[in-house]
Amino acid sequence: MAKGYVGQIFNSIQGEGLYVGRRQVFIRFAGCNLDCIYCDTEEFRKSRLGACEVETKPSSTEFKRIGNPMTHREVLRHVKNLMTPDTHSISLTGGEPLLTGNFLVDVARACRRASFTTYLETSGVSSEAMARVVKYTNIAAIDVKLPEHRAVPRSSWPRLLEEELACIRLAVKQGVETFVKVVVLPSTQPKIITTVCKRLERIGKIPVVIQPVTPAREVRSVPSMTHVYRLAQTAARAGVKEIAIIPQVHKLIGVP
Ligand code: SF4
Repeated sequence: MAKGYVGQIFNSIQGEGLYVGRRQVFIRFAGCNLDCIYCDTEEFRKSRLGACEVETKPSSTEFKRIGNPMTHREVLRHVKNLMTPDTHSISLTGGEPLLTGNFLVDVARACRRASFTTYLETSGVSSEAMARVVKYTNIAAIDVKLPEHRAVPRSSWPRLLEEELACIRLAVKQGVETFVKVVVLPSTQPKIITTVCKRLERIGKIPVVIQPVTPAREVRSVPSMTHVYRLAQTAARAGVKEIAIIPQVHKLIGVP
């Protein structure tokens, strides 16, 4: 049985994307190999965290520490303890969940067997891992990185984009409800939105969420709404049929 490292398990509302406002149990897998300049979960980028913070009661924001690594059975037990009647789904998030390989598959499978809806939040860094987890995924929220995010060195960005597109193709082929999220900065240019959206349009009718960046880490300013509207219009011109502009809502109301 695969064991894995988890950073947090808690109940909150989904703060991003098309399911904003839905209550979820979040499983925050530890570890991320990207390096976004706006990262707001830096403490969970380390892959071998000594302990997982598990919320003691749903949405209490009070946590106890449980030793890592954990089995998927332990994770599921904590998830069940944090369920409420209005909880919509289980967010498999990070860090970057795809990096945890078989452990992610075991957790996702266990959640599906327990009749929970699984919501995978990923940057699509590994199509090989995505291929293994996709059949246990109900909803995929795939975060497409732009060169100015500096998630990877600029020269590696085209390779990252291809991997992300491969993950999106796998999810769409499997019939998973899929949408893409793109964080936009003041420096984001229409040209890069056109490049990304034209590639998405070729895969299928995939909704795109334009998320104005929330200042964190190296980012100090937000794009103007005039700029954000311009980028949304650019996405539409590139062929995207469904576009939403949604900021990070959980930050506005001060929940994790
Ligand atoms: S992918 Fe997410 S966790 Fe990883 S560096 Fe970027 S924002 Fe942080």
